[in-house]
Amino acid sequence: MKAEPRIVKCPSCGTRNRVPAATTGVVRCAKCHADMPWVVDAGENTFDEVVQTSSVPVVVDLWAPWCGPCRTVSPLLEQMAVEYAGRMKLVKVNVDSAPSIQQRFGVQGIPTFVLLSGGEEVGRLVGAQPLAGLRSWFDSTVAGL
Ligand SMILES: [Zn+2]
Repeated sequence: MKAEPRIVKCPSCGTRNRVPAATTGVVRCAKCHADMPWVVDAGENTFDEVVQTSSVPVVVDLWAPWCGPCRTVSPLLEQMAVEYAGRMKLVKVNVDSAPSIQQRFGVQGIPTFVLLSGGEEVGRLVGAQPLAGLRSWFDSTVAGL
């Protein structure tokens, strides 16, 4: 099964772009060439493809629809994907429909955020965070790579 592309409006010029779920490099707007925010929903069958092809750091958001703190933090992560366009890929995994991915990372509680670089875990954050906390976690982890 192939991961589905998303149609995303360019934050710079408003053009609607088809953003692939899995590709190397970064995604740029077809019209103005600005880096596009990259947010992908991945499941059991698409996770490896989505994560392993990425040449930018991947933030995996392990969440579930019934989890209140997950719903609180989700828009903050999407905002980060806009701010960090071209420098990060946000991969959202619903653990209810992807229990094997939750198991693989040994995740006990959600939300849990796992930062991957070159397919390897380089950082992890457990529990909802304010936007400033998410930014500093990402910045300091990526700075240490
Ligand atoms: Zn554009």
